[in-house]
Amino acid sequence: MKPSLIIHGGAWSITDEAVGDCREGIHQALEAGWKILSGGGAATDAVEAAIVLLEDDPTFDAGIGSHLNRDGQVQLDAILMDGGSLKAGSVAAVEHVRNPIRLARRILEKSEHIMLVGPGAEKFAAENGIPLCAAEELMIDRERQAWRRCLEDSHAAEHHLGHESGTVGAVALDAKGNLVAGTSTGGTCCKFPGRVGDSPLIGCGCYADVEAGGVSCTGHGEGIMRIVMAKMAVDLLHDQRVLVPHREKAGSGSIAQAVADACVRKLAHRVHTTGGLILLDREGLPAAAFNTPRMAYGYVETNGSFKIAP
Ligand code: ASP
Repeated sequence: MKPSLIIHGGAWSITDEAVGDCREGIHQALEAGWKILSGGGAATDAVEAAIVLLEDDPTFDAGIGSHLNRDGQVQLDAILMDGGSLKAGSVAAVEHVRNPIRLARRILEKSEHIMLVGPGAEKFAAENGIPLCAAEELMIDRERQAWRRCLEDSHAAEHHLGHESGTVGAVALDAKGNLVAGTSTGGTCCKFPGRVGDSPLIGCGCYADVEAGGVSCTGHGEGIMRIVMAKMAVDLLHDQRVLVPHREKAGSGSIAQAVADACVRKLAHRVHTTGGLILLDREGLPAAAFNTPRMAYGYVETNGSFKIAP
């Protein structure tokens, strides 16, 4: 099987000033993931490596640099799903984990459960060799300032200076044919403490099945959950007959692209909101779609070069 990799850093109104940082972050994460895949490594390792870099990059709303919730705390969500076994590991509302994607992987591999939240998830981390960090390590001045402005006024995208969101995700197909998807986020700014969006929910912010494809979503979580967008995309890839009308609209594009477009159209049409998704079909064909002004994403083309947007 020819390996393939696609990653994203969120669908949002990325300002011109933020484009350079986004492209650089996407480039580095693609490089880390592709090094593993092109050397014959596993899709799980590639997705984890790419997402760890994006979590560590304050440009994105995941790990360090995440948005603060209404109480001024960072609460992180993440998921990793293996499309071969259909196993998943996910965490929500953790406050002391630097790289939640690593914890999600540990749950996938070691727990009988799929999802752990809050203090229970952190207890699992501590018991399974994932060190906890101080909550302050995840907070940066840009986000503290944005949060203060939101409190003084009301929540507004402008207070975020172009960093209104920026969930991250990755989907990888390895040489052995396994397909893995992951998503990690700090969620929405000023969210109610304990709020969980689509990102760590299996089928909403992420899904993978080797028989169809793998998906990672970004955007307004409350809307994405209502249409179960990641599973919707995988189901469409699985049953391509229903795609005929969407294919006509997509012109000569691939089925993978028609699926991504159909999901974003549904998000706009049925729940009137914005977001985006990346996917690989089971052959590794990449596609991305969004209805926000921009989405940060990148994938590896068949000749091995990186295609990066915006
Ligand atoms: N989907 C994420 C959430 O609702 C946010 C985002 O992708 O920007 O938590």
